[in-house]
Amino acid sequence: MSNHKKGRVFSGARPTGRQHLGNYLGAIQNYVALQEDFQCIYCIVDLHALTTVDTTENLRQNVYEMALDWLAAGIRPEESIIFVQSQVPEVTELHTILSMVTPLGKLTDLPTFKEKARQQPHNINYGLVGYPVLMTADIVLYKADSVPVGVDQAPHIEFAREVVRSFNYRYNTNVLIEPQMKATEVPKVLGIDGEAKMSKSLNNHIELAATAEETKERVMQMVTDPARLRRKDPGNPDICNVFSMHKIFSSADEVAMVDVECRRAGIGCVQCKQLFARNLNNHLEPFRERRAEFARDPQYVWEVLKDGKARAKEIASQTMADVRQAVGLPD
Ligand code: SF4
Repeated sequence: MSNHKKGRVFSGARPTGRQHLGNYLGAIQNYVALQEDFQCIYCIVDLHALTTVDTTENLRQNVYEMALDWLAAGIRPEESIIFVQSQVPEVTELHTILSMVTPLGKLTDLPTFKEKARQQPHNINYGLVGYPVLMTADIVLYKADSVPVGVDQAPHIEFAREVVRSFNYRYNTNVLIEPQMKATEVPKVLGIDGEAKMSKSLNNHIELAATAEETKERVMQMVTDPARLRRKDPGNPDICNVFSMHKIFSSADEVAMVDVECRRAGIGCVQCKQLFARNLNNHLEPFRERRAEFARDPQYVWEVLKDGKARAKEIASQTMADVRQAVGLPD
């Protein structure tokens, strides 16, 4: 690890293919920023995806598209490790070992398990129950000291810490590091419907890789203040998702202008959205250019993942050697 870095960060994301604005504002932007101060390990958690997906037909392509978006957004593979979870199978071995020090009741009590079980009652598989143990294995295998998560994820980090303590206590060792939660403000990015969180499955998303025209089209479909039926009706920007987006992508002057003019019907929603679409497109332009450049050489993206795999494996092998020794497994 370079000397100037403050520690090692690990974060994983499921391979959901082309990323959208919600992914960007909620995670990717932060991934990029963290590289300044930390050694970062970013993992595409394809094994986790298997707990919920019905088909793996697009898995490979989704891994590729996601890695492409990460690179285009500014994750630097020379410094950070970007890799695919299943390509370092040590994580499954650690998962098995950790599962032996994890009480089953704790897993079934976790809110995310209950939620998933409600969402897919036809497929409450064993992997779904053990998901937080695999997540713990991900973090501790790479000796990450901090994990950037929103406060809603705090129970999972606390869970990981408990598992680590149980393991270290049971085997009278300190080979596993208790990860710290690096509380991160994760903005709730609403979809173009203005109601639900932005998500691909709800088709209310704006893809980062969409063209400027496609992006504008999506923006023009955004739901605004529902009480503003006609152009001459004054609006309320405080309850309008377009205004929330202006606050992120528009200049302070433009935000102030919309804030005033919307309330006195001085600006129409069409004009307001056009302004936002323009600013969003300006913001995404450099990303799109970089993405197109990387996409010209798909092999490069796979090479990045291969290199990430080798670097991740080096750390993982060392951890597993220590773990096996601590547990007393034969060499
Ligand atoms: S003018 Fe803008 S902020 Fe006001 S309701 Fe319309 S889209 Fe929303």
